[in-house]
Amino acid sequence: MLQRPIYLDCHATTPMDERVLEAMLPYFTQHFGNPSSISHMYGWEAEAAVKKARETIANTISCSPEEIVFTSGATEANNLAIKGVAEAYFNQGQHIITVQTEHRAVLDPCHYLEGLGFEVTLLRVKKDGLINLDDLEKAIRPETILVSVMAANNEIGVIQHLTEIGEICHNHQILFHSDAAQAIGKIPLDVQTMNLDLMSLTAHKVYGPKGIGALYVRRRNPRVRLAAQLHGGGQERGMRSGTLYTPQIVGLAKAIELGLEEIESEGKRQRELRDRLSNQLSQLEGIYFNGHPTQRLPGNLNVSFEKVDGSALLLGLQSLVAVSSGSACSSTATTPSHVLTALGHQDSLAYASLRFGLGRFTTSEEIDQVAQATLVTVQSLRQAIVDCRF
Ligand SMILES: *Cc1c(COP(=O)(O)O)cnc(C)c1O
Repeated sequence: MLQRPIYLDCHATTPMDERVLEAMLPYFTQHFGNPSSISHMYGWEAEAAVKKARETIANTISCSPEEIVFTSGATEANNLAIKGVAEAYFNQGQHIITVQTEHRAVLDPCHYLEGLGFEVTLLRVKKDGLINLDDLEKAIRPETILVSVMAANNEIGVIQHLTEIGEICHNHQILFHSDAAQAIGKIPLDVQTMNLDLMSLTAHKVYGPKGIGALYVRRRNPRVRLAAQLHGGGQERGMRSGTLYTPQIVGLAKAIELGLEEIESEGKRQRELRDRLSNQLSQLEGIYFNGHPTQRLPGNLNVSFEKVDGSALLLGLQSLVAVSSGSACSSTATTPSHVLTALGHQDSLAYASLRFGLGRFTTSEEIDQVAQATLVTVQSLRQAIVDCRF
């Protein structure tokens, strides 16, 4: 039988934790009611499960349950946050600030708004992937209504200084949104100390099910106004209509809860595995580790290889290890990753890069095998170039 490759693509998605599945199962068949059905027990059971999940999630990020709006994932949460604020604050100003290295699910809604007449400033990042706080200060204008900066980058794992960014936004009374799809359950997030007004979450990057996420929307100091993007039955206080997906919501809460429970032990374990991988890869010459060395997700390692063809590298590894170059969403594209280019890499270098995404189920044996496979593949590809020349 064909041996399945080792999975090191946890920034694209993660396998579901069995404990999450177990929590979800009763809500597909036995407790299948519509949480909005107020006249019978089926509805009450589902409503109770949704209420509990909402409370659990709220506790983990220090907000109140009424500030959580369930969505189909982080893409929808980002769209709701950005377009929802743009529409609601249109009369106050039409300028939005975000960052070059954001996920497409932030950049594209901003781009869409540009088509409607909004102005968008894309902040550059430094070589380490972090934004310069002075640049943010300078970009703020009287008509700025929103700043959107991701918590942790999906390609290079860099964790932005949310607390400091939040303080700047707060001082200028500008709403602050963060896409925390990669961060939730992996690093501590506190919407109070970080002055966050909106934050996007998703379950499937943290061992939960696909197709569910949430948007945190601040209700006090200030109360964020949001224009709904999906109209219908009026669920989620009118901000997001559609029958609530009870099993997925239960799964989202369970996944975040487990992530938080194991945040320190898993962080330490994955960091050690990651360092083990980078130490072994360091035997190679002409390699660069992308992103800030310490201000990063424990499970992320992003490496660029000199004098190697990116697609040949992926092809050479693909039967042994499931990784991606750049982000999964753009791995079919031949253009280099916009994130790596933003770090100031030349195109060819940006292209020959691998994103290793370690996770809860990654073992040290796997890391050693992956390191070995990468070493051998890179060396043989480089040798092939030399052989061609002579
Ligand atoms: C995966 C990801 C998204 C998209 O999340 P979905 O729940 O799949 O829609 C958005 N932003 C970041 C940073 C991500 O990593």
